[in-house]
Amino acid sequence: MIGQAVILAARPKGHVSTSDFDVVMTTVPALQPGHVLVRNTWLSIDPSVRLRLGDASPRGYLPAFEAGQILEGLCVGEIVESRAAGFAPGDTVMHAHGYREYAVVDADSGGLAGAGRLTRVNPSEHHPKDYLGLLGNTGMAAWAGLVLVAQLREGDVVWVSAAAGAVGSIAARLARLRGHTVIGSAGSPEKVARLRDEFHLSAAFDYHTGDLTDTLEAIAPEGIDVYFDNVGGDHLEAALNVLRPGGRVAMCGAIADYDRDSPAAGPSNLFQVVSKSLTLRGFRSGEFTHRFGEMRDELGARLAAGDLTLDETVYTGIESAPAALVDLLNGRSLGKTLCRLTGAPDAGHPSPRRDQHARATVR
Ligand code: NAP
Repeated sequence: MIGQAVILAARPKGHVSTSDFDVVMTTVPALQPGHVLVRNTWLSIDPSVRLRLGDASPRGYLPAFEAGQILEGLCVGEIVESRAAGFAPGDTVMHAHGYREYAVVDADSGGLAGAGRLTRVNPSEHHPKDYLGLLGNTGMAAWAGLVLVAQLREGDVVWVSAAAGAVGSIAARLARLRGHTVIGSAGSPEKVARLRDEFHLSAAFDYHTGDLTDTLEAIAPEGIDVYFDNVGGDHLEAALNVLRPGGRVAMCGAIADYDRDSPAAGPSNLFQVVSKSLTLRGFRSGEFTHRFGEMRDELGARLAAGDLTLDETVYTGIESAPAALVDLLNGRSLGKTLCRLTGAPDAGHPSPRRDQHARATVR
């Protein structure tokens, strides 16, 4: 069997470009015992892929991709053939071998440090793509960051950066639904309007306009209690300035560092962690796979009730995956960025090549 796949053609120099990738025809390996063959239908586009495109990935992280290697990423699909106990043809599954139309998956392999273990999902309960968004790694990062890492307490004032993106929009809206004062930041006036007018956050601002610390001090003169960090760099520095004593930072990601040859300078004000007894904790959603049930109970119920939805930017066809990644890193997508592979059941979802701003129409 053959199928298309996205490979790393050349290591990016500076900003990643679609020319750093090739879409090639590959031969799908024969099935071994314990493996399943999956026809992938939806691919999650995640900024973390960028961390693996350089000569070396950050210490402690997943290894860099080799030139010519098929990229990895979370996806859902349908089992075509199975030699693994507990999995049968027709099952809808989530796994880590995205960026290809057909994947052979070892049912015992963890995949992406635990986040991408082959798992059956229920397409009659939720749309398969929801298991990449609200009910998947994305939702887990938001839920775990707020609930387990920042340990939200009544009355907390929360700032979420990249709040119009996938993780950020869930975190911001979930904190709001739980009754918190929530400040959201994003990179364009349109995104800020969405945060303010449709997510009903307490305040929203464009991080390009004005000094971050000044802006936050004007919005929250008494300071903030929790910073949900998707950005790092200057955003983290500003958060340290405005956090109240005992404040917490859930360090989810540092996208400001990803798409460049050398990392940005770290915050110059780290002493504030000492002077204000702050807690900074990094985390990966894969740490919390044992809490997936709880996360899905809360977010699934909110999704079913219609009080928590996730904007989507959907690309169609595996050949559009490199452009989806480049657009994501450059702030040109809203909500969760997905690639719908040819042959994915439509389920009423719009399907032009790029369904810009498929807003709160998750189901
Ligand atoms: P996303 O927010 O949907 O997309 C990334 C957004 O980051 C872009 O749309 C852009 O929005 C913003 N951005 C890019 N460069 C920026 C910069 N220099 N300064 C400020 N904002 C910038 O992506 P996501 O999948 O939800 O991921 C968000 C963060 O969470 C990333 O850091 C990612 O690595 C991390 N993450 C962590 C985990 C975990 O387990 N810890 C899991 C998933 C994701 P604007 O238009 O607003 O600039």
